[in-house]
Amino acid sequence: MNKKIAILPGDGIGPEIVREAVKVLDKIGDKYNHSFEYSYVDIGGCSIDKFGVPITEEGMRLCKEADSVLLGAVGGPKWDDCPADIRPEKALLAVRKELGLFANIRPTKLFPQLASASPLKQRIVGGGIDLLIVRELTGGAYFGEKNSIEVDGETVATDLMIYSTHEIERIGRVAFEAAMKRGKKLASVDKANVLETSRLWRKIMHNLKDEYPQVEYSDVLVDNCAMQLIKNPAQFDVIVTENMFGDIISDEASMLTGSIGMMPSASLSMTTLGMYEPIHGSAPDIAGQDIANPLGTILSVAMMLRYSFNMTNEADDIEKAVDKVLSDRYRTADIMEDGYHKVSCSHMGTLVTDAI
Ligand code: NAD
Repeated sequence: MNKKIAILPGDGIGPEIVREAVKVLDKIGDKYNHSFEYSYVDIGGCSIDKFGVPITEEGMRLCKEADSVLLGAVGGPKWDDCPADIRPEKALLAVRKELGLFANIRPTKLFPQLASASPLKQRIVGGGIDLLIVRELTGGAYFGEKNSIEVDGETVATDLMIYSTHEIERIGRVAFEAAMKRGKKLASVDKANVLETSRLWRKIMHNLKDEYPQVEYSDVLVDNCAMQLIKNPAQFDVIVTENMFGDIISDEASMLTGSIGMMPSASLSMTTLGMYEPIHGSAPDIAGQDIANPLGTILSVAMMLRYSFNMTNEADDIEKAVDKVLSDRYRTADIMEDGYHKVSCSHMGTLVTDAI
């Protein structure tokens, strides 16, 4: 197969971790006789420095014309004082909008080899954690009308939380389909006891559940979900929720694994075009030292192959290679423990590549 991939390394550790992920892609290309054609695009702070904008029109065109997009991370202290409309993160919102990326998929997996890295007790995480969070990405309070006005001598601010039927239905379908491919359990997270948007959310999810009778469905209030994730994370298979709840719940869930550098994510559109990235940021504190963990980015590439290119065996190969390298006791600094082999970012990339 021939696939065009837009590569957006970004800032901080972005270029280092993306380099290792590309090594892995090249190896998969060789092994399965696929041709991956890369277009490199500046995004975030490095683009602001070169072009004065966080992503250029030409960069955006390359993303739209690609079969898929791989992102490192953007941002850093150097650009913290940029005006709001040219901040590095603006480019991410722009790419999500232009590519119609409405579904964010975050697998949260605690590799048994890394169980001691979890902040939770062994009796809670001993059996491993393997859940998938499906977050709506283009609606809700983050995109609704914003206002800040003076009323009776004080400032009053509002963020409109808005959802329409079709937005809920399309993210619901992504979640039910994902559940069908996994453990056939879906928890829909809302705040239907208080919010009108949540009551609509629940109504649409209930309509959908009749189409997926094989899926064991439940409604969970967001505050209860936050507690249950700590108390008994293994009860969850797939969680679906709106934008802001998903933002918070998915960060909480990723911490259960104790290692932000391990977590991949995918943002999907109605077509097979998606954007794949590790969940962490640009880690300016360790940038340029070749010590970052590239596994979150490498596992994001596995998601790209699975979700955008339907290359299941190839994706399995990458995940198995990561598993093998961890079983062989190799660790980057962030997950290092006594008695293990400490390796650099580039060495970790090579080990995974060689294990494929
Ligand atoms: P961060 O995720 O960059 O770093 C948090 C901590 O985790 C740091 O100590 C860092 O060294 C460590 N860390 C992160 N990724 C790691 C990896 N792969 N290997 C080893 N250690 C890793 O979060 P932050 O410090 O809050 O943000 C730094 C910058 O990144 C900010 O400018 C922020 O806006 C930006 N950011 C970007 C994205 C994105 O591009 N999607 C996401 C979050 C934050």
